[in-house]
Amino acid sequence: MREVVDVRALVTTNNPFRLVSTKLLSYFSPKAFVGWQSPMQLQKLPDPTLPAQDWLVAKTRLCGLCGSDYKQVFMNGRVDNPMTSMISWPQVLGQEVVGEVIRTGDDVSAHRIGERVLLNPWLSCVTRGLPPCEFCQQGKLAQCLNFSAGHIERGIHQGNSSSATGGFAEQVPGHESQWFTIPDAISDEEAVLDDPFSVSFHAILKPPPPEHGTVLVYGCGTLGLLAIAILQVMHPTVTILAAARYDHQAKLATQLGAHLVLPHHPTRNLIHRIAEETGSSLNEPWVGLPMLNGGVDAVYDTVSSAETMEVDLRVTRSFGTMVIIGVEPAKTFEWTPLYFKEISIIGSNGFGIEEFEGQRKHAMEWYFDFIEHRALDVTLIITYHYAMRDYRSAFMTCYNQGKSSAVKVLFNNFS
Ligand SMILES: [Zn+2]
Repeated sequence: MREVVDVRALVTTNNPFRLVSTKLLSYFSPKAFVGWQSPMQLQKLPDPTLPAQDWLVAKTRLCGLCGSDYKQVFMNGRVDNPMTSMISWPQVLGQEVVGEVIRTGDDVSAHRIGERVLLNPWLSCVTRGLPPCEFCQQGKLAQCLNFSAGHIERGIHQGNSSSATGGFAEQVPGHESQWFTIPDAISDEEAVLDDPFSVSFHAILKPPPPEHGTVLVYGCGTLGLLAIAILQVMHPTVTILAAARYDHQAKLATQLGAHLVLPHHPTRNLIHRIAEETGSSLNEPWVGLPMLNGGVDAVYDTVSSAETMEVDLRVTRSFGTMVIIGVEPAKTFEWTPLYFKEISIIGSNGFGIEEFEGQRKHAMEWYFDFIEHRALDVTLIITYHYAMRDYRSAFMTCYNQGKSSAVKVLFNNFS
């Protein structure tokens, strides 16, 4: 029998008392979201149990704090969001994981012990011991039809299934196919950005912008900045406009290849500046925001709030594309240009096997390719490292990004 050891983990529960008291206290201070009563607490857990013998366990070396993690911690969502039906509790969040293999199931080669690995967090058919569904067969792993089936609890990716805990812990379990071996030439800090790279890469492929076209990247957090860097490498003839909230984001956007970075507010000015840059005239309504007669070929909207989508529709040209990468609580907005300009709105969720230049590879392997053969370097977006025991400071650094100039925040010590 294997000796069970305790490991430290940030455990999140759906305890109603903790949820309600945290929400109420947050009206007095946002620190309540990570306070003594909050749903997320540092605890000791037994080390991970393998759901099947083709799983392995990695010791965590780095874990990024993802937008989806802090949206959950800061309760930025609605209870009628259908995603609530696709997750299980308790959870250990964190899906941007670099680790080292320390234990393997009987069906995994023991040679993997000691390997430096990167987690593909999607909990699609193969990880659940199921034959691939129609979407998994096509490599569309984020659209798997079996997120509630098989031998692990419901959840779409590591961190939101109670049996596939994430990287806010000393150890992380995963199916052997989820762990990519990290090439020696790639550092831990480069590797830990692979998950958000893959999200942005997937978005830009659906569809790619026309050569010599003009695009808007809306939002310059991690996903927006990575979208800019990827566009610059993949489509050097395309003019990249960016809309940023903070000065530190604008500076990074320029360093990563944006041709012009505009302030996100006021939205009227943003629309006017995009009209100037695209040589478009403005159609002014009786009230509200103008619509461009022309505009950008595509918007990659990494915010996807009612406000940004209202602007997207006004600055996208006829037959252009809006790619929706983020999620914000729903609100109403004026959307007539959608029908009038025959704009396509495309949702973009996660990543899987991606086709680029006639080759099909997992998005995470494309990132390795971009680093090794296309000179991509995006590590300048890593702004803070914290020990996991200082998680309260780490999350508040994200929350106060205007003051802290945070972009990507990492946990680098789990003891
Ligand atoms: Zn599937």
